[in-house]
This record gives sequence, structure tokens and C-alpha cells, in this order.
Amino acid sequence: NADAALYHAKSLGRNNFQFYSAEMNEKASSRLIMENALRQALEKKAFELYYQPQYDMQTRRLSGCEALIRWCHEGELIAPDQFIPLAEETGLILSIGEWVLREGCRQGAEWLSQGYDVPSVAVNVSAVQFRYEFYSTVKEVLKETGFPAERLVLEVTESTLMKDAVRARQLLMKLKLLGVQIALDDFGTGYSSLAYLKKFSLDKLKIDRAFIDGLPNDKDDKAIVGSILDVARHLGLETIAEGVETAEQAEFLTMYRCEQAQGFLFSKAIPAKDFTDLIKKNYAS
Ligand code: C2E
Ligand code: MG
Ligand code: MG
Ligand code: MG
Repeated sequence: NADAALYHAKSLGRNNFQFYSAEMNEKASSRLIMENALRQALEKKAFELYYQPQYDMQTRRLSGCEALIRWCHEGELIAPDQFIPLAEETGLILSIGEWVLREGCRQGAEWLSQGYDVPSVAVNVSAVQFRYEFYSTVKEVLKETGFPAERLVLEVTESTLMKDAVRARQLLMKLKLLGVQIALDDFGTGYSSLAYLKKFSLDKLKIDRAFIDGLPNDKDDKAIVGSILDVARHLGLETIAEGVETAEQAEFLTMYRCEQAQGFLFSKAIPAKDFTDLIKKNYAS
């Protein structure tokens, strides 16, 4: 593709060629700069986990949290969408992902040791991690941190499972034996059919916020969310809605017996310290 662009640029004449070429060089070098910065970020302790609370829709009590990585780079907080893809391409996601897993479990264990019963901590797992010694990493981190396996939720996406379905199925079965929970993230946005769901040892479906968005008025979103909840119920899967932003959405989900929810209506992802305050408040009430 870059070659094609160059060829095209060349055919437009010398000035254009220089223009395109400079632009492409710039892109390549800013990528390299970013890659190097990312490489150093772990050593510099420049990553931080933020936690977004999840709530039981019936009781409205805290049911867990999702750990979401942030990168503090040059005084700015960078969102994962800005650097996870590069981390995946370069393989850096292996060490970053392991750090996320360890830090999430460490924090979860700390809350427990302080007497705060945080029911679960979820971490996102990239497809790359899934392919390299993931099982032994999880096992080791649980042992090292003392975080109870049952409280750890591993979030994977449909595409992670579909890339090598046979292997993924076996890996999930092994992970289940450790006692951890498996959640299917961004459900509904991938290509997997509903029939696939029962082939994998899953505990939880996370309904993507793309479908929550149109609730409660959009007829299609209502039908889709309603069907997902039905199927999940029949398959014995827990359900959690992502990206709940309005009281009307929460009301719809409660009525349709979606079990849990997370979203800006309740809270955005917050630093561990703020999450501790939130737990304390939850206890007080
Ligand atoms: P995700 O796992 O689906 O996480 C949910 C994303 O939706 C988070 O964005 C969260 O802040 C955002 N969100 C939550 N509630 C709402 C809401 O009510 N409205 C809207 N508009 N957004 C909401 P974030 O933190 O920017 O993360 C984006 C994605 O980056 C995550 O999507 C996940 O795929 C990935 N990610 C985050 N942390 C990690 C990590 O540690 N490892 C890996 N591999 N991926 C991560
Ligand atoms: Mg997630
Ligand atoms: Mg998601
Ligand atoms: Mg997502």
C-alpha cells in the first residue's frame, strides 16, 4: 500500500513525490518514537490502572469493577485505543498485559485485605497474550498476589476466540479449572454466531455499548438486546451491559433482567484511590 502510494505520488511529479515521502517518513518516525516511549513506559511506571465500577441491576450494589489501562505520557493521560494497537503489533502487549493482570490482582487482593469485599476485578486480555503462555502467567500471578481466582474475570473478545477456535476452547477450559471467570467483551460486534457461545466455557456476556446506545427507543437495539438477554439466560450466562449512560437505559435493562451494568450513568473509570473511596461510600450506605 505504501508502495502504491509512492508510485502514485511519483506519477504526479517531483514535488508531489517529496510531499508524500516526507509525510510518510514523518508517520514512520512518529510511530518509532511512540514505540520507544511505550517500551520505556513500563520501567518508568508510566502506566496506571483505572477502575470502572459495575453494579447489580436488581440491588444496585457494587458487583465488581473493570480495570482499564491509562498511559501517563508527557503530562497527558493517554487512552488505550491510542496505544494498545501499537503494543499489539510490536508484541509489547505481552509485558504490558502481564503488568495489567498482576496490578489488577494485586489491587484486588489489597482491597480484600483492607476488608472491602470487591466481588470481582475484570481485566482485558488481548489476542496476542492469548497465544503466548497465557495459562501459566495467570496461574503464577494468582499465586503471587494471593487474589482468589473466582474473583478474577478475564475479558476476551469474539475475534480472540475465533482466531484459533480449537486452541482457544482448550485454553478457556484450562483457565476455568483454575477457577477464574471468563467474559466475552463487546458482544455483538464480532462475527461469531450465537451457536458458538456454548462451545466455549464462558461465564459472562458483555453487551457492547453500540446496542445500549439506542435504548429504550430504537426498535432494532431493543430487539437485539432483548434477544441477547434471552439467549444468555437459556445458556446460563451472566449478562452485563456496557456504556449505560442514561436512567432510561438502566430502567430498560433492569426490566429485561440484564444482571449487571457499567457506564457513565454510574461512574467513569477512576484511579484506584478514588475507587477505594467509592467502596467506602458503598459500605456506608
Ligand atoms: P472495553 O474493554 O470495551 O472497555 C470499555 C470502554 O468503554 C472503556 O474505554 C470505558 O472507559 C468506556 N466506557 C465505559 N462506560 C462508558 C459509557 O457510559 N459511555 C462511553 N461512551 N464509554 C464508556 P477505555 O478505557 O478507553 O478502553 C477502551 C478499550 O481499550 C477497552 O474497551 C479495551 O478493549 C481496551 N483496553 C483497556 N484497557 C486494556 C488493557 O489493560 N489491556 C488490553 N488488551 N486492552 C485494554
Ligand atoms: Mg473490557
Ligand atoms: Mg467492551
Ligand atoms: Mg471495546
